[in-house]
Amino acid sequence: MISKPQKNNSTKCLECGKKLPGRIGQKYCNPNCKAAFHYRNSKLKEPSIYTKIVNQLKLNRRILKQHYLSGKLKLDKEILISEGYDFFYFTQTGKDKNGKPFFVLFEFYLHELKEAGKYKLTIWHN
Ligand SMILES: [Zn+2]
Repeated sequence: MISKPQKNNSTKCLECGKKLPGRIGQKYCNPNCKAAFHYRNSKLKEPSIYTKIVNQLKLNRRILKQHYLSGKLKLDKEILISEGYDFFYFTQTGKDKNGKPFFVLFEFYLHELKEAGKYKLTIWHN
């Protein structure tokens, strides 16, 4: 959610409280106060659900990519979770020809193995 700073009907700077001599509707005494006010407000704001989901998908993909690049293609669920991976977030899901579920994260595929808590990592080739 984007919230705009409230209308300033007073004659004081929203950031430092200094008296504003200028025009009606002026909110800050100078650009530094304006920047400081917006910076502080953005830090206080909770990230949106969109941002949270996108960030988790990016993190999941980064984790899989690191394993893929290091050549580690058999992955342990507990280790993935300890690295910050969240199995709730994926871009697609399905079942292979043996009925085993797989999860897709962009170009990466995580295939559930017979062995409990183990996954095989593959990459999509076109
Ligand atoms: Zn000010």
